[in-house]
Amino acid sequence: MDLDLSQEIFNLLALRWQGALDKQQYQDAIKVSIAAYMLFHALEDSLHQDIPLTWLSVIEKQKALGRRQGLPTQNLMCAFCLQSKPESELIAGADALICKSCVTNISNGLRSEHDGKPKS
Ligand SMILES: [Zn+2]
Repeated sequence: MDLDLSQEIFNLLALRWQGALDKQQYQDAIKVSIAAYMLFHALEDSLHQDIPLTWLSVIEKQKALGRRQGLPTQNLMCAFCLQSKPESELIAGADALICKSCVTNISNGLRSEHDGKPKS
């Protein structure tokens, strides 16, 4: 199949996926992702076939966030520092949240551990 047409189909599916996700129609979004994966896999289009797999993980994250939207704000807390800061951006994992400052602290810690090897 020619590349432009393949790209066009991909764009249409991506649009459909995004639309379903925005409306929280997760079943539809999952179907679009799987259909897109199978289609591009069948077309042996390595450029596009793996992208729908990342769509599936985005859907899972959105679902987890959606479930939390109905919860009172005090339950929205960082699983690491246990702080609930409305001004701090919380990032959702599979079943826990982490705040931006913990992400920064952890990544700095990992980096210094990595760099902290004895130097001569
Ligand atoms: Zn935190």
